[in-house]
Amino acid sequence: SLTTGIVGLPNVGKSTLFNAITQAGAESANYPFCTIDPNVGIVNVPDHRLASLTDMYNPKQTIATTFEFTDIAGLVKGASQGEGLGNQFLANIRQVDAISHVVRCFEDKDITHVSGKVDPIDDIETINLELILADLESINKRIGRVEKLAKQKDKDAAAEFSALTKLKDAFENEQPARSVSLTDDEEQIIKHLNLLTKKPVLYVANVAEDDLAAPDDNEYVKKVRAFAEKEQSEVVVISARIESEIAELEGEEKQSFLEELGIEQSGLDQLIEKAYKLLGLATYFTAGEKEVRAWTFRLGIKAPQAAGIIHTDFERGFIRAEIVSYDDLMETGSLSAAKEKGKLRLEGKEYIVKDGDVIHFRFNV
Ligand code: GDP
Repeated sequence: SLTTGIVGLPNVGKSTLFNAITQAGAESANYPFCTIDPNVGIVNVPDHRLASLTDMYNPKQTIATTFEFTDIAGLVKGASQGEGLGNQFLANIRQVDAISHVVRCFEDKDITHVSGKVDPIDDIETINLELILADLESINKRIGRVEKLAKQKDKDAAAEFSALTKLKDAFENEQPARSVSLTDDEEQIIKHLNLLTKKPVLYVANVAEDDLAAPDDNEYVKKVRAFAEKEQSEVVVISARIESEIAELEGEEKQSFLEELGIEQSGLDQLIEKAYKLLGLATYFTAGEKEVRAWTFRLGIKAPQAAGIIHTDFERGFIRAEIVSYDDLMETGSLSAAKEKGKLRLEGKEYIVKDGDVIHFRFNV
């Protein structure tokens, strides 16, 4: 499954956030056969549609879909030079699919800041620079060889050389790979490099509890937003300290606590939703009297592959899928009503699954 790494300088609130994630953690009952790495936190993906489907079907159980975070502690200045455990951290980042970059936006004179003052943009640039330098090194190792091949009129090498040249230029100007526009061919050909600065990023602004209700009055948050906008990255404002308290609550208790804080959704829930979208993930549902369940899929896959997420047999023996969209189901009020109104569709092997599809797979065993 896909995972998002939590990175940031020391003392910005990463562990506090990660603790909230493990506290909010999805029922381990769903993972009876897995030992979960202590650096991995698995959370339920919040989805209001699941509650409405549960009301409609009254099933014996309702199962949310889950999402994974990996704690990548300890990235420091000099990591790309292999200083300290630097190389290990970079290797850990290489394994994640997206990055949640925590930056400190709270003042607290009792908590030292590694560079002596609270300055989220400086923090972001410090870490980004380490990742850029590591990518520059990966590219430098390759570019000479590819250049030779390109000169021998090797077509793939020529495309790669042109991509590497653009990237090298960007890195030397301290710009990440995600800021470079490449052709589709170039994109394909550099995939194998698994560049760190190509991974999508979400900035997590960690503010003091008092700032949660009006985060844009916080000058640091404003700066982070402006920075993220330039790179077309997203921002989530949280207060890591309060998230662990929220994570212990559920239902109405959670709701009234959020109201007290003056926010609609917990920072962690916002983070999960945005990270999920950032990775191009979406949700389809299966619904019946026994179980209502949400399933994660990558946007773009076809019906048989979506069936394969439930069980490989479903993919192998796929015949067709009976599908009603969540919105049509809610509007008509029941599956039989949806059928009468012609909203229940039969789809075949080429159907591209959409977010919110409620699906019944037909398959041969
Ligand atoms: P890490 O080094 O990035 O993992 O940072 P920690 O999560 O260990 O946090 C460093 C210190 O900052 C700890 O003493 C936390 O209690 C404190 N801290 C974290 N989040 C907040 C916050 O929202 N407000 C305040 N005042 N302190 C926080």
